[in-house]
Amino acid sequence: MLTMRKLINPTLEQLTASPEQFLRQMAGPVMVFVEGQQTDRCRGLVTLLHGNEPSGLRALHHWLLQQHTPICNLVCFIPSVAAALTEPLFTHRTSVGQRDMNRCFLPPYNDAPGLLAEEILALFSEFSPECVIDMHNTSGHSPDFGVVTLQDMAHEALVSLFSQRLIVTDLRLGALMETSTQHCPVVTVECGGAGDAAADQIARMGVHRYLTQDNVLQLAAGRQMDLYHHPVRLELNGDAAIAYADRYVLGTDLTIPPDLDRYNFETVDAGTLIGWLGQERRKAMRVCNAIGEDVFDQFFCITGNQLLTRRAIKLFMITTRPEIAISDCLLYAAMESEHEMLYT
Ligand SMILES: [Zn+2]
Repeated sequence: MLTMRKLINPTLEQLTASPEQFLRQMAGPVMVFVEGQQTDRCRGLVTLLHGNEPSGLRALHHWLLQQHTPICNLVCFIPSVAAALTEPLFTHRTSVGQRDMNRCFLPPYNDAPGLLAEEILALFSEFSPECVIDMHNTSGHSPDFGVVTLQDMAHEALVSLFSQRLIVTDLRLGALMETSTQHCPVVTVECGGAGDAAADQIARMGVHRYLTQDNVLQLAAGRQMDLYHHPVRLELNGDAAIAYADRYVLGTDLTIPPDLDRYNFETVDAGTLIGWLGQERRKAMRVCNAIGEDVFDQFFCITGNQLLTRRAIKLFMITTRPEIAISDCLLYAAMESEHEMLYT
């Protein structure tokens, strides 16, 4: 089992000069606690649940280096340090052979990432934060957005520190945000593509707001988020052969245009090309809604060997990394009409 290091009010020496050096010094999962101006309140922050998503770590490290006192106590978790340190740095989502850390916040907790998830949840109930933000990057190019499993003012306000876009999902995968309650809202923030300077900047500004504003659970007067309700996932079979190329690659079950991620957070028309299918056509994939039904036909259709959108839909979290397309999903989609649903 991974032992979690605990740093209380870390010194500059413990933090080292760069996030990379800091990770090397820690070598494994770490908890950071910083005492705030108000010690009767606490906020939670999690980042690097995925080792290839460094914006949150960079922002947090930058903040800690300033040695400012946060508005209230702060408890942070940086779990996937070993995965992040696997060369090349910040390219491994998980440690080799391990489950995705952000699919482990559900019992049974019987492997290394599961036990670490359990420990993080136990420490959260000990520190009793008023809210938790879990910071990620997308694997492809994408604008910033937030994801919540509960929708209310507090969840929207937390996401609004980082982004204007908010996905409300009823998909349940074992992600940290699924532990959210009205008592302690937990939100996911996707700062944008890993490696995009803009994502680092959004992370840095959001962390600054999170740690300096007295009230982060109230949406600014008049502010309205752009909402995306109940997305579905286009999943591929684990043994599907895929490729990213500008035309069908012989022998693949699905060939995806390499610039498909340009549609992230766009509404695409009916008949938009998602990829070219092999002989097996429909077999390689499914489109899952929250209760596990395959709703492929509501979103997509197949004409010849082309996989097309059946109607105007919103696409997001499109990945251009084949291993993520296979192990997680190729993209998320939501009905265009639901975007126009008014928040009540
Ligand atoms: Zn992530």
